[in-house]
Amino acid sequence: MNRTSLALALALAPALAPAQTAPARPYDHVVVVSFDGMRPDGMERADAPTLHRLRAEGAAALAAETVGDSSTLPSHSSMLAGVEVRAHGMDFDDFHPERGFIRVPTALYVAHDLGFATAMFVSKTKLRHIALPGSLDRWSLPHWSCERVAAAAAEYLAAAPAGITFIHFSEPDDSGHRFGWMRARYLQAIARSDRCFTTVMAAVEARADRDRFLVIATADHGGHGRRHGTHAPEDLHIPWVAWGSRVTRGDFADPVRTTDTAATALAALGIATPPGVTGRPVQRALGPAAPTP
Ligand SMILES: [Zn+2]
Repeated sequence: MNRTSLALALALAPALAPAQTAPARPYDHVVVVSFDGMRPDGMERADAPTLHRLRAEGAAALAAETVGDSSTLPSHSSMLAGVEVRAHGMDFDDFHPERGFIRVPTALYVAHDLGFATAMFVSKTKLRHIALPGSLDRWSLPHWSCERVAAAAAEYLAAAPAGITFIHFSEPDDSGHRFGWMRARYLQAIARSDRCFTTVMAAVEARADRDRFLVIATADHGGHGRRHGTHAPEDLHIPWVAWGSRVTRGDFADPVRTTDTAATALAALGIATPPGVTGRPVQRALGPAAPTP
């Protein structure tokens, strides 16, 4: 994206994000944790006690789907902006500073515009393309390792004001490319990411207002062999686990698309789905709809 089109995108962004806040919000905090390259069956098979506990205590869709371009930057962009790749324009998968930022407002941008606190803790530089200027109070890329990412996120979450926090762990994807998806080393990488997730959940659950948190654990894409990015079901299927006091418990089969994550995060904070967003709030994560006044 050149300077002119970025300026245009930023000028348009507030217009695309109406300031509509529902009278009551289901939660005060949303934490989206993305396990890069984690297949649903990988999550099930790995030694991942925190993911398994949240699945048991929460709602889980084990055949959720990512977008057709099942690569890291395109799919995370859809996860956080709630639109397909053709709408957000992030159709490449490397860090290209000259290409600017995502061209639609992300859920974090919309929430930030309404006064919520927003933060991203990531382990890959290319995710900077999603950190739209004006969308974040905190951008953190401490290290590639999930231990460092989780430590920074946990420190923030211990006292975070109401808002959206995005956390990204890259180990499953790294191991998938190196050793093969669903191989032993890949499952060990999910187990390692789960220990990092445990650090994050300890910070959330230590808070007096922990019942005001919605945690969504998901992935950007799956993989097969040593790759991903195709339309194979192994690449497209992702887990989608929601944990929070208002969640309707149990595994469920209703279709969930990664774009629904953005819409659900906003709805959790009482924010209506912005026009143009094609994702839909997952009601099972939010509890009974608030009565209209
Ligand atoms: Zn990858």
